[in-house]
Amino acid sequence: MTLEIEQFMCRSDNFGILARDSETGITALVDAPEEQAILEAIKRTGWTPSLLLITHHHADHVEANLALKERFGLTIIGPAKEASKIPGIDRQVNEGDVVRVGNQEARVIETPGHTAGHITFYFAKAGIAFTADTLFALGCGRLFECKPPVMYESLKKLVELPLETVIYCGHEYTESNARFALSVDPTNSALKERAKKIEALRREGRPTLPTTLGEEMATNPFLRCHDPVLRNNLGMKNAADVEVFAEIRKSKDVF
Ligand code: ZN
Ligand code: FE
Repeated sequence: MTLEIEQFMCRSDNFGILARDSETGITALVDAPEEQAILEAIKRTGWTPSLLLITHHHADHVEANLALKERFGLTIIGPAKEASKIPGIDRQVNEGDVVRVGNQEARVIETPGHTAGHITFYFAKAGIAFTADTLFALGCGRLFECKPPVMYESLKKLVELPLETVIYCGHEYTESNARFALSVDPTNSALKERAKKIEALRREGRPTLPTTLGEEMATNPFLRCHDPVLRNNLGMKNAADVEVFAEIRKSKDVF
């Protein structure tokens, strides 16, 4: 049994996701960035969703909640900590709660930082995590509602997952993230290789996602605050990892 994934573009750089349990055919949407693009994906795949899993309250993730709920009778599941900002929410979830999609199970991991209630849905058996705007390929979300240590702790939770975990993110930001990553970690050969691949994919108009946790740990500067070379580049040899994280996040904001 598997969790089949259809990933597609919405708006300008958001990803829409349909996740279908192959045994039961039960399908969940992850976030609802744009009604039209989602309807097209449903038509293309023939997968009709009955669930909508929401990662956080930003408009580019919940805009189509009510329209899709009306059309498909979706059950909307999202973070309890920002439930009041999530249109149509039916079930509020917290750390450790389990969400079933047919015979597949997601564990809720609270990953605040980008927003104060942001959650990640982790399907352990399928080896897939939907990290939305917490962890990006070669980046992490902007800190709109939290201080750096909060996001740093969230990322530390995610790096506990198995290295082969497949990561789906909220946005196609990878090419610009790669430029920034190279500016702070220019001698990382895995990163240089990856940046070339990313450039080629984007030239062909193809998505750079999903990624894997292992690939991120080797190349994503926000997960490499402990790395001696990167710390040296920043002149922060003796700083705490969380201070290195805060500095990288601050530099990225103005890059
Ligand atoms: Zn967001
Ligand atoms: Fe977003």
